[in-house]
Amino acid sequence: MICIPIVARTTDAIAEEMWAAARIADLVELRLDYAPSADLERLLRNRPCPVIVTCRPVRQGGCFEGPEGERLGLLQRAVDLAAEYVDVELDCVQRLRRGGRTRVIVSHHDFERTPPDLDGLHDSIVRSGADVAKIACMICDICDNLRLFRVLRRTHHPTILLGMGELGLVSRILGRKFGNYLVYASLAPGKESAPGQVPAAELRDMYGYHRIGPGTAIYGLIGDPIAHSMSPAVMNAAFRHAGVDAVYVPFRVQRDVVGFVKAYREMDVSGYSVTIPHKETVLPAMDDVDEVVKRVGALNTVMYRGGRLVGTNTDVPAALAALENALGGDAGPGPRALDGRSVLIIGAGGAARAVAFGLAERGAMIVIANRTPERGRRLAEQIGARFCPLDRIADVRADIIVNTTSVGMHPAVNETPVPRVCLRPGAVVFDAVYNPMETRLLREARESGCKIVTGVEWFIRQAALQFELWTGLPAPREAMERALRARLGNP
Ligand code: NAP
Repeated sequence: MICIPIVARTTDAIAEEMWAAARIADLVELRLDYAPSADLERLLRNRPCPVIVTCRPVRQGGCFEGPEGERLGLLQRAVDLAAEYVDVELDCVQRLRRGGRTRVIVSHHDFERTPPDLDGLHDSIVRSGADVAKIACMICDICDNLRLFRVLRRTHHPTILLGMGELGLVSRILGRKFGNYLVYASLAPGKESAPGQVPAAELRDMYGYHRIGPGTAIYGLIGDPIAHSMSPAVMNAAFRHAGVDAVYVPFRVQRDVVGFVKAYREMDVSGYSVTIPHKETVLPAMDDVDEVVKRVGALNTVMYRGGRLVGTNTDVPAALAALENALGGDAGPGPRALDGRSVLIIGAGGAARAVAFGLAERGAMIVIANRTPERGRRLAEQIGARFCPLDRIADVRADIIVNTTSVGMHPAVNETPVPRVCLRPGAVVFDAVYNPMETRLLREARESGCKIVTGVEWFIRQAALQFELWTGLPAPREAMERALRARLGNP
């Protein structure tokens, strides 16, 4: 179940938000600590869905500052008015008189950390007579989520376990797989009652919360930062469209990615996408890597094959296919479309390495230009290419220009890494940047009579290849692109 906490401060505003929330959620939580003088009787008389009544004191992270007797009196009133649930803290549960049909959620909150003895705390809550046990705690390390899941997996008692903060998102989504009684999600951004709550519509529509069950396969994105990644929207749309029982979650891994992959083996994660800054540092966690990864020295895809973790790199074939497609025209890409073509690659980071190694194998003649010359020279040497200082690229005559820097990316949309004089009619211009969908570079290239290859095309192709490797099914590319466009605000 999805529960939306209502944090409005007047009876009218609470009533309005409660009805809006009921369109998305299964139940709402009336947070009386935000509005202690709200007309509870009126609100409960005219409720659109089941209700949890809560009046959280400051000592447990809420905002009720009045006397304890008054606070417990409000909760008692909710019991007398037959609210479906009342949430009372473990340290005062014995002072609440039970009654009627109201079920009591006994809760404990820790805004600092995940408590060391989570099992002991859960047992104390269950022993207190809780109909539903609840622990909400801060997740300071992505692996703390595993401790929450272990409690959910072992208990048969109705239990709510929630990880707070950005790193707790994993517990909010995957908790359902392990039997979490409910999850809290906000009515809209800015209306959160605890750190890390995501909008309920996102949880329901993007992550398909109600479809998650014990048999749902887990996939995810490893990176940092990843809060604005497009991959969850694209991959979850793909699974939904193809009818695959799977969910794709963002794993923000700040350090020790190898430790993360090892620790999460107990979760039977079926596959990972890997992004900045872990494409290289994750390599030691693999049991096997394929030839592409060995040559490029970086991976973006992890899958299980016969119980072994295998790393591959779909960035490389996706970039090559996008370029070959652009060169092929109506006749289609020939097998040697890139052989002998002169290519200028701007940048020498991870994206550049993927494109450069792939193109070198296809027999392209490559020039690397990069802001930091040593890094550019190093990559050029590794693939047998020439290096050119960034301020001299106008001297390079290239059939294909590839931007692999982040120049031109939102919000700096008026920047371009390539002066207009370099954009000759008939050339192919490929921009790795996909936000905005048409960068200034691509717009000017189009206006100059060049063929363009967008970062969106690269992104969708590499994601589609991942999907196919993981599931063995053809990727629903149109649905994936629709999801990406919607996420980029460009439907
Ligand atoms: P990275 O490893 O951090 O490399 C960044 C590259 O950009 C370096 O060569 C860096 O030069 C250069 N750079 C950064 N800011 C610059 C500036 N202001 N002026 C000139 N050069 C600058 O990052 P990455 O993984 O290669 O990603 C680069 C871009 O490609 C990002 O926008 C990413 O979103 C995009 N990308 C897209 C896809 C896709 O599927 N469409 C896939 C991968 C990456 P220095 O060496 O001098 O720092």
